[in-house]
Amino acid sequence: MVKVAAATLALTLTLAGPAPAQDAAASLGARLLQDAGIKAAVEAIRAEEPQTLADQARICEVEAPPFKETKRGELYAQLLREAGLTNVRTDKEGNVLGELVGAQARPHLVFAAHLDTVFPEGTDVRVTREGTLMRGPGIGDDCRGLAVVLAVARTMVKQGLKVPGTITFVGNVGEEGLGDLRGVKYLFNEGMKGRIDRFVSVDGTGYGITHIAVGSLRYRVTFKGPGGHSYGAFGRSNPLHALGRAVETISDFEVPLDPKTTFNVGRIGGGTSVNSIPFEAWMEVDMRSADPSALQALDAKFHRAVDDAVRAEDARWMQSMLTVDKALVGNRPAGRTAADAPIVRAAVSVTEALGLPVSLDEGSTDSNLPMSLGIPAITIDGGGRGRDAHALTESFDAADSWKGTQRALLLAIALAQP
Ligand SMILES: [Zn+2]
Repeated sequence: MVKVAAATLALTLTLAGPAPAQDAAASLGARLLQDAGIKAAVEAIRAEEPQTLADQARICEVEAPPFKETKRGELYAQLLREAGLTNVRTDKEGNVLGELVGAQARPHLVFAAHLDTVFPEGTDVRVTREGTLMRGPGIGDDCRGLAVVLAVARTMVKQGLKVPGTITFVGNVGEEGLGDLRGVKYLFNEGMKGRIDRFVSVDGTGYGITHIAVGSLRYRVTFKGPGGHSYGAFGRSNPLHALGRAVETISDFEVPLDPKTTFNVGRIGGGTSVNSIPFEAWMEVDMRSADPSALQALDAKFHRAVDDAVRAEDARWMQSMLTVDKALVGNRPAGRTAADAPIVRAAVSVTEALGLPVSLDEGSTDSNLPMSLGIPAITIDGGGRGRDAHALTESFDAADSWKGTQRALLLAIALAQP
């Protein structure tokens, strides 16, 4: 057991602060590694990688469809308890939390991975292993993250690492698709509101550091009218024609290249037969941008396009028959943590200290939410190499995956400094 005095760490390793500390941030990783206790922990987590991989497979073999993460959450709570965390609990939304109490309550770091997958109930989630290659739905996204977060917690407890701040380790629900970040939304807006100073999500494979949050808005738009016989009721406004008008306008939207801003009508439907004026037509629309104001501007154009399409279709027949409902089915806020923010510099620094490649990325992850609130947040990859995320053929190559676990551990230690 190696104990690192909290006071010593606090004095010598300052993460945030004015200009001199900024320079200190660049060498933070290397300086942390000079500490004997930290070095021992970083070596220990490498030796524990077989256990980490076994956990990764075990967690993955408990299914966690969207909105049905309970069973996997129960296992994760048990694993966090066995790892030695305190106050292990499940919140109202289904997030699983466990604490490593430091010398002080602040800074309070949340170190998370998501429990949910994109796969429906009943999916065969058995994991197979062939050499370093593991296969199974969700094995990388995000069973890898869950196993890494668990390994970091377990190693810090086992090695008796004392850090100045407090870390809450979390397995959160609702990252994927229509889950719409409900887990982190609950954490930041209710469960731990005002108590999170820094947030790291371990999601995906490789060594990337995501500090730009691509936001997205998703709508299901439903046009409705009286419908009728295509010949006998000819002259009534047609919901599908209105939809077509809306799609035409949307398809001509001009959007900025930088920040990259995108739109897509992904699905359409409606109608009952070729000889009926439909009483209903619907479409699903996805819009994205890394820039909140660009996304907002696009959103306004979208609303106008739909409303104008309804008016134009009614005007065409001199009627007022159509209604439209624009249901927001996805809202992932855009945001960013500046590349020179202490949390990003810390991540870069520990990545370099371990001799790993630095890649600053953008993406859509649980960090979107804290970034949009202005809370320092990043998402890091969990090491190894993943393929076919979100497909049944998903795989994870664990060759040298311990490097990702080491990086996560060193980052957690770095971010638990004042
Ligand atoms: Zn994920």
